[in-house]
Amino acid sequence: MARYTNMDFLKFLLFEVHPIKDLFQYERFAHLDEEQTWMMIESAKLLADQEMAPYFKDMDENPVKYDGNGNVLTHPCLKRIITESASQGWIGASANFEHGGMQLPEMIFSTAHHIFQAANNGVEGYLGLSAGAAGLITSFGNIEQIGTYVPKIFSGEWQGTMALTEPQAGSSLSDITTSAKPLEGDLYSIKGQKIFISGGQHEACSNFVHLTLARIEGAPLGVKGISLFIIPKFRVNKNGDLEYNDVYCAGDFQKMGQKGYATTHLSFGDNNDCRGYLVGEPHKGLTYMFQMMNGARISVGMCAASVAMAAYQASLQYCLERPQGRIAGEKDPSKEPTLIINHADVQRMLFTQKAIAEGALSLGIECNKLYDLTHASSGDEKHQYWLLMEILTPIVKTYSSEHGSRSAALAIQTLGGYGFTTDFPVQQHYRDLKIMSLYEGTTGIQAIDLLGRKVTMEKGNALHILAKTIQSTIQEASEIESLKIAADQLAIEMKRIEQVLAKLYSYASAGQTEKYLSDATIFLEMMSFIVIGWQWLKMGILAAKKLANTSISQKEIDFYQGKLQTLAFYCKYELPHVEAFATTLLNEEDLTNMKNYAIFD
Ligand SMILES: Cc1cc2nc3c(=O)[nH]c(=O)nc-3n(C[C@H](O)[C@H](O)[C@H](O)COP(=O)(O)OP(=O)(O)OC[C@H]3O[C@@H](n4cnc5c(N)ncnc54)[C@H](O)[C@@H]3O)c2cc1C
Repeated sequence: MARYTNMDFLKFLLFEVHPIKDLFQYERFAHLDEEQTWMMIESAKLLADQEMAPYFKDMDENPVKYDGNGNVLTHPCLKRIITESASQGWIGASANFEHGGMQLPEMIFSTAHHIFQAANNGVEGYLGLSAGAAGLITSFGNIEQIGTYVPKIFSGEWQGTMALTEPQAGSSLSDITTSAKPLEGDLYSIKGQKIFISGGQHEACSNFVHLTLARIEGAPLGVKGISLFIIPKFRVNKNGDLEYNDVYCAGDFQKMGQKGYATTHLSFGDNNDCRGYLVGEPHKGLTYMFQMMNGARISVGMCAASVAMAAYQASLQYCLERPQGRIAGEKDPSKEPTLIINHADVQRMLFTQKAIAEGALSLGIECNKLYDLTHASSGDEKHQYWLLMEILTPIVKTYSSEHGSRSAALAIQTLGGYGFTTDFPVQQHYRDLKIMSLYEGTTGIQAIDLLGRKVTMEKGNALHILAKTIQSTIQEASEIESLKIAADQLAIEMKRIEQVLAKLYSYASAGQTEKYLSDATIFLEMMSFIVIGWQWLKMGILAAKKLANTSISQKEIDFYQGKLQTLAFYCKYELPHVEAFATTLLNEEDLTNMKNYAIFD
């Protein structure tokens, strides 16, 4: 079977770069140790090898299909995958003991899911959505709601979904119109349309639990009038039997990628008999949903990094087998062709992919560790971890998806013409990856979240903590001779943030909000390249320390040297982009707020 991830690299991240043992000192995770957690990762790999990777191509070639009658026909392997994954805990394992979970750290849960995503990203979506929906119910639902839905979702019998988007309300959720009319207690009559709902209908589960945003009649306009409801396709009646809840699947979107993953159009209450169960308090729906969305944004970042990793592994394998041409300067045509990995430009493409995929994965694990720390710690410590996670969330989501796409495009380029054919998986990786910069908030929305909210939150405290954390890595690296150059370079790029923000804040304080946010995406890019540079410096520190130990094997020497070489590559080829982004951000010309559309003609 072709390699789609690198288990040595995962071990490096979990036990060296972001040591998981830091978590075991907290009561929440005190029941675990390194050996146990690694055994779980290995069992996830076995599951992915046996049940997921073999269907990656077949699910693409045999996409889900709407039957015209409310059903979405899915690949026959899906039921077995969901049941088997659920029985191994890969839907509910990170939940609290009292909710039937194993209190597994997200670091481990998401690393297992990384393996699934790299093996077959579409099928992982069904599992991840269910985990997120159940998490929302356990956090904000009442005891009855938890008891009714969570065990069924964890067992894989029922599918959890998140139903936010409407035809007229995608990025702007304040414009949703799905309505909720009070009946009695927490029961409401629901009417409305939701589109693009992932996993909203398929053959592998017998019921669908839609965590849905709707507006209670008479609620205020905007985000303050949005409430959260559980809307099952089949509701449980007083006798405990299931009855149809007037939730109709009106269609499935055909897509360029993730073709095995259903994307449905749902219609609630066509026959005025759709009931929704209010979760928590009225009008707090978006605040609750943000818990799931924030987790989902980190997961999408991980997924993008995982698919980029799979594409990198496939292109690396090809380069080690494909002879073509002769190295530069070799004029003798009688000489055997060389493997393409010997061409400098091919190595440039491989290093770029490695820098992006591994850098993004490292950041994803960092964010998941922060998530665990916020759940395990308390007081000020908890708050500091939370702030750091908040500011990194739009970065991990966007860098991984945007540059993951660049990386997968390079994987195709590395293979040459074969990369464009369906004989090789990289074109599928590329198509699958594109959605990641769109769902869970587009890149433009993430950028506004970073510059408009996260940078300024608590008077810049989140940014201050991030800067301090990066500075301490720079300090540590600058004490290691072989890392001095990289550390100095990152320190120089860090200084640009202050300079750029001083300029941007001058627009904000003059009331020019539109101008302040115009280049938010460029700001997000600038921050991302710095943050990924920080991750590479962290990896470099560990690698340099390991290489100082003379008793390590040749395999280990190669592994750690690969990290130092990629850090050097990142500093030469990627980090210099920060200066270009800063130049654009410091340029006062306002070119993208044109009111005369005719100039686009
Ligand atoms: C395959 C797939 C699966 C999905 N799964 C789900 C799901 O499970 N549940 C769910 O609820 N939704 C889901 N979605 C919906 C997804 O989250 C939305 O498509 C996404 O949020 C963008 O909304 P939109 O498509 O309406 O685009 P629009 O909001 O119309 O955006 C169009 C463009 O305008 C830009 N834009 C919009 N507003 C602004 C602004 N204020 N400032 C700057 N730029 C802006 C965007 O960045 C984008 O480039 C899914 C979508 C797809 C395609």
